[in-house]
Order: sequence, then structure tokens, then C-alpha cells
Amino acid sequence: MKAAKFDYERPADLDGALRLLGGGGDVYAKVLAGGQSLGPMLNLRLAQPGLLVDVTRIPELTRVEDDGEALVLGACVTHAMIEDGKVPDVTGGALPSVAGAIAYRGVRNRGTIGGSVAHADPAADWPTALSALGAEAVVRGPSGSRTVPVSEFIVGVFETVMGEDEILEAIRIPKLSADARWGYYKVCRKPGEFADAIGAVLVDAEHSVHRLVIGATNAAPVTIADAAEVLGGNGVPGASFDLDAARRLVDGADTNLDDMERHIHAVALKRAVEQVAK
Ligand SMILES: Cc1cc2nc3c(=O)[nH]c(=O)nc-3n(C[C@H](O)[C@H](O)[C@H](O)COP(=O)(O)OP(=O)(O)OC[C@H]3O[C@@H](n4cnc5c(N)ncnc54)[C@H](O)[C@@H]3O)c2cc1C
Repeated sequence: MKAAKFDYERPADLDGALRLLGGGGDVYAKVLAGGQSLGPMLNLRLAQPGLLVDVTRIPELTRVEDDGEALVLGACVTHAMIEDGKVPDVTGGALPSVAGAIAYRGVRNRGTIGGSVAHADPAADWPTALSALGAEAVVRGPSGSRTVPVSEFIVGVFETVMGEDEILEAIRIPKLSADARWGYYKVCRKPGEFADAIGAVLVDAEHSVHRLVIGATNAAPVTIADAAEVLGGNGVPGASFDLDAARRLVDGADTNLDDMERHIHAVALKRAVEQVAK
């Protein structure tokens, strides 16, 4: 099947893109970034916008900045740029290792971090990884900018807090301390595929962060922000965290999973925690 007919615009700046999104009257306009998710949706006619607003040439959306406390990545920074170390890594290796395990190189060359978060596919990597890293989404709309934690930005399956006249401008990723520990375990049938289950954990004692995320469920990623107690308090993080503890967390979370799926998610969470306990 081929995409339904649409118009195409490639604005040079963010204000121009916002005008196109907001000013179409009855034309349904949609942002186009890497096209790795939207392209198949257009071809299957699951999305039939009247106008595609290509945001990939907008300088604000490809910027890479250090604001002192965090790395700010424009929404159109690609997975490949992160994988290749073309942006600074403030996460002790977490960012490039997550990026490098997304799909295959062709997808990573075009797919963007912002596109992945805006698309909010529960099986995708960035929504879970960035929730665990405590990242924030910077959203620009007709009435200005707002910043929302990624863990609150995604509210359901393919559902975010963004309005149709807004653009995800950047992702702000806090710098981790030197002794922060990161664990990420993705269950998928073949390397690089979309996940069947993801467990993610960040322990950054210097910043009082003990965070777990259950990802790739049938809902938004579930963030357990204060997991210090379940991770064993001040001892070696996660040393006492077993499969029963993981299963209790998964059972208590709003995941819309069946019994077998909850078991797989508990295993993913336990294996992520094992990585920080080593
Ligand atoms: C074969 C294949 C395998 C894949 N495997 C994985 C995988 O293992 N893990 C994984 O995480 N992902 C995977 N993906 C998805 C890939 O990572 C995409 O890059 C990502 O989901 C979407 O990013 P994009 O830049 O291509 O966005 P697009 O496809 O251009 O857009 C996706 C959606 O987000 C909206 N959007 C995009 N950017 C913005 C913005 N800045 N502001 C507002 N809205 C925006 C669009 O309107 C659209 O609705 C795979 C894709 C393919 C084709």
C-alpha cells in the first residue's frame, strides 16, 4: 500500500514549524523527523495527515549543549550520533549503549531521539532509558516552552502530554556522578529488535537517586522513583534484590500484562539490577 496524498514543508526554524502546525485550519498537520515510525504508518494509511512538517533541518532541533547540570540534545539528534560518540556522554556509557542496540544501522542513521520519545511506542528503548536517567522533555508550543520529565511526558501507549500544535524541542539529560551505576536489560527475540520487556535501573547515591523502570509493557513505562529500600538501602545496591522482589514490583505496577509477560518483565528487571550489583 502507498501513503495517501499529503503536502510537504521543510521550515527553516522552529517558529516556522509551529506556524505550520497551528495554522492549517482543517488541514491535519504532522511533524516528520527520521520517518522510521511515521513512514510505515503513512504507507499502511494508519496516519493520513494533509501536511507533513519536516523538522530535521531546524538548527534548534539538532543542537547539542551542556547547560552545566545536564546535556541538552535537540530532538532531531539521531540514534547513530549518540552511538558514535558525536555527542558528549554524561551518563557513563548508558546513552551510547542504548542507542547502539536500537534496530540496525540504517534505522539508527535516520531515527531521532525526539521522534522516539514523541512516538511513545512502549516497546521502544528511549522512553524507558530516559525515564530511568531522569531526563526531561522540552516542549515548545504557540504559547512558549515547558519542561516535563520524560516519565510524565509519556502517558500511555503511543500517547504523550503534547498537543498537536506542539513540538518536542529537546531532551535534557542530567549528568551522572562518577560513581553512578546503570543497568539496562532488554528482552528481544533477535539483537536490535523492539523489546518484549525492558528493565532499567539507575543508582546515583551522590544525587540520592535510586530509580527503577519497568518498560516495554502494554502501558507507559512504569517509573519507581524511590527504590532505595527495595534496592537494599546503603549497602551494595541491588545485592539482595531477587526475582521475588522484582515480581512483586511488576505485579504492583500498572502494566496491562498477563502472568507470563509479568514473569518476563520481572526477569528483565532483576537482570538490570544485577548489572548495578556487580
Ligand atoms: C525496522 C525498525 C526497527 C526498529 N527497532 C527499534 C528498536 O529496537 N528500538 C527502538 O527504540 N526503536 C526502534 N525503531 C524505531 C526507531 O527508533 C525510530 O527512530 C523512532 O521510533 C521514531 O523516530 P523518528 O525520528 O524516525 O520519528 P518519525 O517516524 O519521523 O516520527 C514518529 C512520530 O513522532 C512524531 N514526532 C517526531 N519528532 C517529533 C518532534 N520533534 N516533536 C513532535 N512530534 C514528533 C511524528 O509526528 C510521528 O508521530 C525501529 C524502527 C524500524 C523501522
